[in-house]
Amino acid sequence: MLRVGLTGGIGSGKSAVAARLVERGAVLIDADQIAREVVAPGSAGLAEIVAAFSDRVLDADGALDRAALGAVVFADEAARRRLEAITHPRVRARTAELTAAAPPDAVVVNDVPLLVEVGLAPTYHLVVVVQAAVSTRLDRLVRTRGMDRADAERRIAAQADDDRRRAAADVVLTNDASLTALHTAVDALWERRLLPYERNLRSRRV
Ligand code: ATP
Repeated sequence: MLRVGLTGGIGSGKSAVAARLVERGAVLIDADQIAREVVAPGSAGLAEIVAAFSDRVLDADGALDRAALGAVVFADEAARRRLEAITHPRVRARTAELTAAAPPDAVVVNDVPLLVEVGLAPTYHLVVVVQAAVSTRLDRLVRTRGMDRADAERRIAAQADDDRRRAAADVVLTNDASLTALHTAVDALWERRLLPYERNLRSRRV
C-alpha cells in the first residue's frame, strides 16, 4: 500500500485533486468526513462532548452545533485540548480501520486539511500539497461556497501558510488555472509517481 497525504489551504482544491485521484483508481480517506462521522448524532463521541461541555453545544435536533462548540473552544486552550482528546483518538482509530480495509496494493489518499499543522507529514510515503493564490482561494470560497469574505479571510489566516506546507511536501500542485489544467497535473502525478508503485506491488503479488 502506498499512503499519500494530501493537504492544502482551505479553498486550494484538495477535494478536486482527491476526486481526480479516485477516478484514476486511488482509495480516498477523507479526514473531514471522518471527523463529522465520529461526532454524528447517536455516536459515543457526541455523548462524550456533551458530558464535557453540556448540551449547550447541541442544536434543536440534538446534533452537534459546530458554531456553538467553536465559540466555547475558540478562546479557551484547555477546552480545545479537551475536545481534541475526545475527537482525535476516534478519528485516528477510524482512519486506521479504513486503511486496513483497503486492498494491499492500493494507493490510499488521505485528505487531511491540517496535516502539516498536526505534524503528520512523516507518517506518509508521499505528501502532496495543493496550493493556490490567497486571492483565488478567497474568490472560490465566496463564489462556490457562499462564504462571507471576512470569514474566509479569518479561516485562511488561522491555517499554516503555504511556505510551511511546501516545506513538508514531496509534490506541490499549483491550482491557479482551470480545473482541466488541474486534472492534467493530477494525471501526470498518477502516471509518474503513484501508478508505478501500484503496478510494482501488483507484480510482486503474482
Ligand atoms: P476545503 O479546505 O474547504 O475542503 P478544498 O481545498 O477541498 O477546500 P475544493 O473544494 O476542491 O477545495 O475547491 C474549492 C471550490 O473551488 C470548489 O467549489 C471547487 O469546485 C472550486 N475549484 C477548485 N479548483 C478550481 C479550479 N481550478 N477552477 C475553478 N474552480 C475550482
